[in-house]
This record gives sequence, structure tokens and C-alpha cells, in this order.
Amino acid sequence: MNRVVIIGGGITGLAAAHTLARTRPEIAVTLLEARDRLGGVILTEEEDAFLLEGGPDSFLARKQEANDFWREVGVEGDLLPAQDIHGRVRILRDGRLRLLPDSFNLGMPSDVRSVLAASLISIPGKLRLALERFVPRRRDPSDESLADFFRRRLGREAYERIGEPLLGGIHAADAERLSLSAAFPDLYAMEGEHGSITRALKARRISNEGERGLRFVTHRGGMGKIVQAIESHLGGIEVRTGVACKEIQGKAPPFRVIPENGDALEADALIIATPAHAAARILKETCPPLCSLLNQIAYVSTAAVYLACHEKALKRPLEGYGFLVPRTEGKTINACTFVSNKFIGRAPEDRILLRAFVGGALDPDVIQWPGERLVRRVRDELKEIVGLEGEPIWSRVYRWENALPQYNLGHRDRVHAIDKLVKGIPGLVLAGAAYKGTGIPDCIISGRLAAKRASR
Ligand SMILES: Cc1cc2nc3c(=O)[nH]c(=O)nc-3n(C[C@H](O)[C@H](O)[C@H](O)COP(=O)(O)OP(=O)(O)OC[C@H]3O[C@@H](n4cnc5c(N)ncnc54)[C@H](O)[C@@H]3O)c2cc1C
Repeated sequence: MNRVVIIGGGITGLAAAHTLARTRPEIAVTLLEARDRLGGVILTEEEDAFLLEGGPDSFLARKQEANDFWREVGVEGDLLPAQDIHGRVRILRDGRLRLLPDSFNLGMPSDVRSVLAASLISIPGKLRLALERFVPRRRDPSDESLADFFRRRLGREAYERIGEPLLGGIHAADAERLSLSAAFPDLYAMEGEHGSITRALKARRISNEGERGLRFVTHRGGMGKIVQAIESHLGGIEVRTGVACKEIQGKAPPFRVIPENGDALEADALIIATPAHAAARILKETCPPLCSLLNQIAYVSTAAVYLACHEKALKRPLEGYGFLVPRTEGKTINACTFVSNKFIGRAPEDRILLRAFVGGALDPDVIQWPGERLVRRVRDELKEIVGLEGEPIWSRVYRWENALPQYNLGHRDRVHAIDKLVKGIPGLVLAGAAYKGTGIPDCIISGRLAAKRASR
């Protein structure tokens, strides 16, 4: 093993590169990244003393292996938890924002008493929700959608008002097609182990894991600082940005890596850390059946629309981290983060920063709207929902086309079949958000595992 080529410089490819630099410095590693910057969907920018995250703004810090990684790249001391405020999430119901009690964990109630006090759900809906612990465990081994799971365990209303916007929203997905076992393996396992999610969450709360586990953290200086920190820990790795891989030649090592521009490279092992659709294009010569499976992993597009405003443009103060919008409300905004409430240091004094998400599986066309139209629509809806008056100081739109993988029904079987085919091609490793977890900690774990496999 002398030469490894990593294709894709998002967090997965970077985690793989760092792990190789640290554990196998004798291997010659080259990382190719199509864009002219590293980080993939992680992109932080500053404007007028505001700090903007074009893509992810934070992550859950509960996976030990990812936490070890933060320590290795020296950012552990700079991680900033989201502000500890009561009443973090609100959900739009009949045009008004209603509190989702903090005791809801993963969209599920861990404390039935707080459900009864919530105005988000009608009285019959609450009664149905309170019966969750008596709903029998599912015996059917077939894959179940998030929507079916929620309706079965908690009722239709809890699905429409909580499950769809909160959990479907994390993946910008159509919850009717999203696979529970692939997208929310924790919930799936909880039903298997405890027979009831309410009981499982209560057990976690008692063991004090639930509350601590679900804190979001970011880097004090924005997610982009994490990318910079990893970059500075890449040792002797050769990083080539602005170089897209066109194709791989060969069905076994040494592979020839053909870039769109520049000279071909030879590799004894390859880590492909791109979205699945890009991996399919790159590998079309190497293994057509693998490409066909990779192309079956659907992707959706989304856009983040930022509005920077004066505090006085609001009729009433913003409460919590932001809100989610069920599809039944008929709005363009899917979710909105009150950025300046969620993390300190994101906006100057007397100013607020709002970030609305639009698009996703349920509204795919909106992503093509011109920026001005998107901003106008978001501003108009925020006027109705949070009482935002007048024009923003400035606005910005970040579009992410085909950037979010969808773990739709059958995803785990598809990934299993992909793994089997990949095992038959020595030296080839696939990693990243497309397969076994889309969160940043999952991508880090995937990148580190890829480094281990590629250097065997
Ligand atoms: C808008 C948005 C918000 C999100 N919010 C959160 C959040 O708050 N918390 C969280 O935990 N997760 C969040 N996620 C998910 C998480 O950010 C991603 O799953 C993760 O960052 C993906 O990392 P990756 O390296 O696997 O892929 P990517 O970041 O997509 O990186 C893949 C890289 O491969 C490159 N590439 C593609 N084709 C080629 C080629 N042919 N040759 C060379 N390079 C190529 C691309 O340019 C890209 O840089 C969010 C995702 C999005 C899109």
C-alpha cells in the first residue's frame, strides 16, 4: 500500500485524509476536490459582523468517536453549545406559533404531562398521543416509513404537526417515503427494545443520557473554522482543489484516476467521498451494477434564505431557536432558525439574523426561483408568522442542489447490496452522507472507517 486517492473534500473526505495523515504518514495521499474550496456543504461567511452558515450550522455532540476527532484536530475547546433557553422549538399551527414542549425528544414525548399542556395538539390528539405506551410493538419485518410509524404509534395529528415537520424536515424529506430504520435508527431500535418510545425515552431520561445527549454544538467562529482546523492537520497530504475526478479506470488496483483537468493519478486504494450520484458517474467503467444501485439513492435540493434585520423591525421579541412548518399549513418556508437566539456571536447588538429553509422533497421547484422572489416570499411569510416589518438590511440565498440524500424505503437493503459489490473490488471504499448517517458526526465516523479500510 503506497498511494491512496481520496475523491471529495467535504467533512467525510477530510476526516479520512486526517486519519490517514495521523495513522499512516508513510502512505502518499492525494485529495481531489471539485470545488475551489474544501468543506463540501459546510460553508461559513461573514457579512457586516453577522456570521452566516450556508449549510450545516451545528451538530449533535453525542458520538464518542466524533468527539475524539474534534480533540485530534484541536477544536474541542472552541465548541460552543446552543444557548440553553427554555422553549426551544415552535411549530406553526393554524397560522400561529405553538410551543413544542422541550420534553419532546426526537419528536416523541418523554413526559406525558407536558403533552397535555401543549396547545399544539387538540384534546383528541393528546389522548391518542398519551396511548403510545400501549400500542403493540410492530412484528412485520418489512421497512416502514416515518409517516406510517408516527401514525401507528402516536396518531395522525401528532404525525402531521410534529413527525412530518420535525423529523421529515431534518432530511428535507417526504416522510411517506423516508425509511424509519435507515433515517432514524434510534427510534427504530427503541421500539424493538422497549416496545414503546415513551417508555424508552423515560428510561434514557432517568439514566440522564437523553437531556445531555441532545445538545447542539457549533464552532465559536462558525463551522468553516472546523474545516480550516482539519486542513491545518493534514500533514503531508497533497490537496488539489478545483480538480474534479471524471472517471476511474480499472477494476482492481492500481486504479487510474482521471481528472477533468490535469494528469492522471495511480492509486492502490481509492476513497470516494462524494454524493452517491457523483460516485455513480465516476465508477461507471469500474462496476455498472454498483452505479445503478448508487443512482437509486435519491437526492433533494434545498435553499437557505437569510434575512438580517434591525431588532426594532419585529413587533414582538423572537422566542426560542425558531420554528417548523407542517406541510398542511401551505407555506413556502419549511423551517426558520432565529440564528441570533440559537448561538451567541452570530449578529451584532440590536440586530437579528433569521435563516429560513425552503425546497426539499415536498416542494422541489421553489429552488429554481430567482433569489429576489425567494427573499420576497420568505419576508412576506415571516411578516405573517413573527411580525417582521419592513425590508431586511440585507438578504442572502444559499442553494444546495441535489445535496441531501434521501434514505427512502429499502435504503438499508440498497446499502447492503452496495457494500457487497464494493467488497468485490479490492482497494475501493465508499464513504459519506449517502449511506449510513447524514449528520456531521456520522460523516466523520464514515471517513475514519474509510481511512482504516483503505490502508489495510
Ligand atoms: C443545507 C444543509 C444543512 C445541513 N445541516 C446540518 C446540520 O445542521 N447538522 C448536521 O449534522 N448535518 C447537517 N447537514 C448534513 C451534513 O452537513 C452533510 O451530510 C455532510 O456535511 C456531508 O458531508 P460529505 O463530506 O459526506 O459530503 P459533501 O459535503 O457533499 O462533500 C462531498 C464533496 O465531494 C465533492 N465532489 C463531488 N463530485 C466530485 C468529483 N467528481 N471530484 C472531486 N470532488 C467531487 C463535492 O464538491 C463536495 O465538496 C446539512 C446538509 C445540508 C445540505
